This record gives sequence, C-alpha cells and structure tokens, in this order.
Amino acid sequence: MTTKTNCITAAAGVVDLVGQTPLLRLHKVTVGLNEGVEVWAKLEGYNPGGSVKDRPALNMIRCGIESGALTREKTLIDATSGNTGVAYAMIGTALGYDVCLCVPSNVTPERFKILNAFGAELILTDPGTGSDGAIIKAREMVAADPDRYFYPNQYDNDANWQAHYNTTGVEIWEQTSGRVTHFVAGIGTSGTMMGTGRRLREYNPDVVLISGQPDSPFHGLEGWKHMQTAIVPAIYDPALCDQNLEMNTEDAYAMAMRLAREEGLMVSPSSGAACHAALQIASQIEAGCVVTIFPDDAYKYLTEGFWTE
Ligand code: PMP
Repeated sequence: MTTKTNCITAAAGVVDLVGQTPLLRLHKVTVGLNEGVEVWAKLEGYNPGGSVKDRPALNMIRCGIESGALTREKTLIDATSGNTGVAYAMIGTALGYDVCLCVPSNVTPERFKILNAFGAELILTDPGTGSDGAIIKAREMVAADPDRYFYPNQYDNDANWQAHYNTTGVEIWEQTSGRVTHFVAGIGTSGTMMGTGRRLREYNPDVVLISGQPDSPFHGLEGWKHMQTAIVPAIYDPALCDQNLEMNTEDAYAMAMRLAREEGLMVSPSSGAACHAALQIASQIEAGCVVTIFPDDAYKYLTEGFWTE
C-alpha cells in the first residue's frame, strides 16, 4: 500500500505531491473486534501541506484558473480554520498567486507561523465568533472590493467535494481492492464525506456512509462543525449519509493519545474522533472493512494540554 512515500517519487512541484496518501490498517486499537472486521485509516497528513485540505484547495484553484475567475492580478481570499489556509498559502506560493486569509485570532501559534512562512496575508477575526466570524469577514471584504478578489468559498464550492470524488474515493476503492464496506468521516465543510461518499456509492451502492459531528457547539475537534448551530455549508447534503455520530472532545483526545501510544501514530484531535467513531461502527458489525480519514497529523496541535495530562 506504499504510494508516493518511497524514494522513487519524482515531482516537478509540490502540487504534484497532493493525494495518493497511504492507507494504514489499525492493529492495536482494534483488539476485541470480531475477527472478520478490519479498520483502516487514510493518512492525509502525508499531503505536502500536511492535511486532507490540499486536495480541495488545489482543485478549487485549478477550477478558478480554468474558468478565468482566478488571474494573476487577483488575490485569493477565503475564511479557514486552518488547514485549508495552509493549503491555499502553500499552493498559492508554488503557483504564484497572492493569498489573503480570514482566520480566528486563536489559531494555534504553529499554524500562524506556517501561514506567515508561506507569505499569506492574515486578517484576524474575533475568536468568540469562531469559523463563522471568519466567513462573515471574508464575505464583507469581497463585497467591498469584488474585482480584487478570487473567493473560492470552500463551503459552497462544488470543486471542494469533487476533489474527493476524483481522488480520495478512487484511492480508497483501489487501496482496499473494492472491499470497503463502511466509510466514516468527520464533517467540516463536508467536502471529504460528500465527494468520497458519492464515489464509493457509485462503485458499490451498499457502502455504508457514517458522518461524525461534535456533540456540542463548543468543542476541541478543530476542523469539524456542529451543524445545528453553524452556518450550514451549501455543499452539505445530510441525506447522503446513513448515520451521523456525535463525538465528544475528551474521547477524541484520549483516542489521539492511544493512537500515539499503541499504533505509533501522531494524529490530530479530529483524527482521534474519526477513529473513535470508526471503532464504534466496527464494534457493531460481524464482518467488514471500515475505512476512515485521519485529516492531519498531530504536529500543529502539540500545544494542546491533553498530550501531557
Ligand atoms: N479535520 C480537520 C483537521 C480539518 O481541517 C477538516 C477540514 N475543515 C476536517 C476534519 C473536515 O473535512 P471537510 O471540510 O472535508 O468536511
């Protein structure tokens, strides 16, 4: 299952390294499951920008260039809780486009430094208003000067979920040789679930799709959205999923720690939550191949207290 992570990879630019991430079988945290049950995690931290968001960011930029909406004179602007911003900033630098990001001011110091290193302009918004406050700010800036900006708007842009339809879903199908029975993913913009889920259902209409959401509006699952209280992304179709699981932050932190201690994997809180949800599903079935997404690794979250508690 090794893909681009070996030494035979040759790439003309960092954008060529997006996608083709490894799919890893979890062996330790799965102890106690029925013998016929497998749990696999797609390690999106292996993308060059360090997260799953490299895929939609690259596709939205490519579609913008192709449609003529993104030209050299324009600045790419968007609201992002972090990973999409890193992806825009990295890809913008690599392809030669200016990037401006509206980000809640409580963004982790690591992320702030990464965005700054890639040369993005940062507009800091009130942390009390969360990612929605950043969205409102980006909309205001675009409305005030529409000709200056290219606004991909990841929450409403079909190129977001289509990136996963064209890559993540295909990779999972191929990496499992078509054996995947359940797909579990947390919902932020919902692009990962909408695109990957639709593709897997096309391959096999019986694939079960399970979304994960935080169990309260105030949570530590960075990248996930509490849909009941948030601005609902236009690309989100709740009818696609068979089931939705509400995950709590403490369980996610505990699972992230277990993944480090037991599997040797340093992954983010939202990966811990996805793993917890996948194991919950896996514990309810007799046999099957459960696949989930680990959206990014742990290195941007090391200031979180739970690593040392
Ligand atoms: N986890 C993390 C860490 C993320 O950055 C994101 C993206 N917001 C997600 C999960 C959810 O992915 P999506 O936006 O595709 O629903």
